[in-house]
Amino acid sequence: MDKFCQSCGMPLNGAELIGRQSDGTKTEEYCLYCYQEGKFAQPELTLADND
Ligand SMILES: [Zn+2]
Repeated sequence: MDKFCQSCGMPLNGAELIGRQSDGTKTEEYCLYCYQEGKFAQPELTLADND
């Protein structure tokens, strides 16, 4: 039951934290922050804060 995100190492101790495939299937390998709807979320979004 102790699963961890293979990307960021966050404990996946809740179904809501588990990443999903595009069809809604849980991956159980990545958290939803790293993996959403079948693809990896960009952890380094926009570092460009040039405003
Ligand atoms: Zn993660």
